[in-house]
Amino acid sequence: MDQVKIGRFIADRRKANHMTQMQLAEKLNITDRAVSKWETGKSLPDVAVMPELCRLLNITINDLFNGEVVVMENYKEKSEQLLIEMARQKEEADKRLLSLEILIGVLASMILFGAVCAASFLSMPAWARVCLIIAGAVPFAVGIGYCLKIEQTAGYYECAECGHQYVPPFRSVLWSMHMGRTRRMKCPKCGKTSWNKKVLTKS
Ligand SMILES: [Zn+2]
Repeated sequence: MDQVKIGRFIADRRKANHMTQMQLAEKLNITDRAVSKWETGKSLPDVAVMPELCRLLNITINDLFNGEVVVMENYKEKSEQLLIEMARQKEEADKRLLSLEILIGVLASMILFGAVCAASFLSMPAWARVCLIIAGAVPFAVGIGYCLKIEQTAGYYECAECGHQYVPPFRSVLWSMHMGRTRRMKCPKCGKTSWNKKVLTKS
């Protein structure tokens, strides 16, 4: 979203409706400083005041987000642009999550490995060895559970049979065979079991 464009649009619409910043602010029960901040692109209107603001300026919420009056012909195009932008942001966030997964996976494995090594090679009573291994296994299990949760929710799995892209339930991810991030799962659309690739972009 282009904050400066939206600000300029609010100012234009306010003037077109013959209001000063002060008058608009009073009608919205906010300070004229807040209005000035929107109009200079320093901040966006709070979601709570948006409906009333749009009513006073004679625009739709969609117009406000786009920073211009969206005419019906390019309405579809504009909302598609917004959807594409949102999808792109999700893709970026998913990418970061998947990198985080690798980090957590490595750390969790190192903790378990360290605990098992210490329990095997250091001299200590048997009960201490058991405790040490449990102490290493718990963060490992939590870490791997977290990794699986990321893998389940970040991006989509793509069915090798019909190409359907979906987010599987957690238990499918937990119990499926996998090679890296490619998992053998049943497609919810065609019902066939195949090796489903992880994809970030929904096509
Ligand atoms: Zn399928």
